Amino acid sequence: LVWPKTGRYTGPNPKRERVPMRLSRYFLPVLKETPAEAQIVSHRYMLRAGMIKQASAGIYSWLPLGFKVLKNIERIVHEEQQRAGHIPMLMPTLQSADLWRESGRYDDYGQEMLRIKDRHDRDMLYGPTNEELITDIFRSYVKSYRDLPLTLYHIQWKFRDEIRPRFGIMRGREFLMKDGYNFDLTKEDALHAYNRHLVSYLRSYERMGLQAIPMRADGGPIGGDYTHEFLVLAETGESEVFYDSEITDLTFGDREIDYDNHAECQAVLEEFTSRYARTDETHDAAIFNEIPEDRRRSARGIEVGQIFYFGTKYSEPMGATVQGPDGSQAPVHMGSHGIGVSRLLGAIIEASHDDKGIIWPEGVTPFHAGIVNLRQGDAACDAACEGLEKALIAKGLDPLYDDRDERAGAKFATMDLIGLPWRITVGPRGLDKGVVELTSRRTGKSEEMTAEAAVERLV
Ligand code: ATP
Ligand code: MG
Ligand code: MG
Ligand code: MG
Repeated sequence: LVWPKTGRYTGPNPKRERVPMRLSRYFLPVLKETPAEAQIVSHRYMLRAGMIKQASAGIYSWLPLGFKVLKNIERIVHEEQQRAGHIPMLMPTLQSADLWRESGRYDDYGQEMLRIKDRHDRDMLYGPTNEELITDIFRSYVKSYRDLPLTLYHIQWKFRDEIRPRFGIMRGREFLMKDGYNFDLTKEDALHAYNRHLVSYLRSYERMGLQAIPMRADGGPIGGDYTHEFLVLAETGESEVFYDSEITDLTFGDREIDYDNHAECQAVLEEFTSRYARTDETHDAAIFNEIPEDRRRSARGIEVGQIFYFGTKYSEPMGATVQGPDGSQAPVHMGSHGIGVSRLLGAIIEASHDDKGIIWPEGVTPFHAGIVNLRQGDAACDAACEGLEKALIAKGLDPLYDDRDERAGAKFATMDLIGLPWRITVGPRGLDKGVVELTSRRTGKSEEMTAEAAVERLV
């Protein structure tokens, strides 16, 4: 940012957007030892790769590498929500208890809610979710059906005082969630909003390199069929799930969708819920057993999101009504839709790693490529690495240049651990032949080629 003498803000400096990142000046506190407290692989690798540090039980600092991935996940979520027509905003973490008394949840929520008193002895709480706050915003401004449909969302920290915070950020007490809320005149419109969320979630998870299966979930005390959880299959998942193996063949891919078209969105919902897929809460053995035996699967999954239509559960007690076309007042139909933004880091690592470390999908990787200089201080090697760095940045990519004076083995081990999709290795012997080595993290395959060809190859 440039603040000239006039004091006028001249706008963002585009050159600032991609700053070359050198490992010698970065903060990447990798651990050689496997931390004893980590029971699952994602937690182990996040600690070892210097991504997070526990501050207290279930509460984490996001170190630079982890923070970068978190921001990438957030960016995908923002893009896909806005593509679906949902509007970003930001609500506070601390809320007044009064709103929760109006909805009746202040007493019901129980010990997961962190309750705080301010200096005036007023009851406050650290928001575990935001239905009350958003309904209050809505009722303060929106009075007519003409202002509908409306879906507002934010990505904000939540606090739930989980009995057993564990697996690192997978079940934290403080965690980052995207939560969106739709307001519609009719149930039919609200179900369209539900479908829009389903589609946008499928797209979001796929962009993160994940398969997350919508599974019929339990509507809780409100009941109803209108809730699905999105589950990533993983042995370490906390949910027990049952599904027809055919469901895993479905992908959304890069098909176009018109989010305003009810029938199109409904068709996606029908397609992705056409096979049996349920969590243990809604599992029905009789229906499950009708599936051919070779397709019946019981497994474990990680809940990375949930969509929910709940009608007038909050709008009625809180008086969020609008005037309809016929002049009558009616409470709006609402739903809420959440994505576990911070939990997704864990889910992605559970789904994509090997015994050397993380393997980031391109969509969320903290850096696109690592540049490894095998002979730091050698004029030709240094120049080649710097040239690669410049060329990758010019291409709009984010390289991480390991310019430390370290053994090749140590540099490779770090790159493998932090899981960048590509490694470009530069050494004196290759340079004599005019080549560098390009290695894919996923396949482990290496190829020699000119530096230009390597840059060309990276997307
Ligand atoms: P869980 O069943 O895992 O406790 P939930 O059903 O209580 O999750 P929701 O209220 O549906 O959670 O919240 C939306 C999303 O937020 C969840 O799908 C999950 O991905 C994420 N989430 C919920 N609790 C946590 C937590 N303690 N730590 C990290 N992410 C969480
Ligand atoms: Mg929970
Ligand atoms: Mg749940
Ligand atoms: Mg849930």
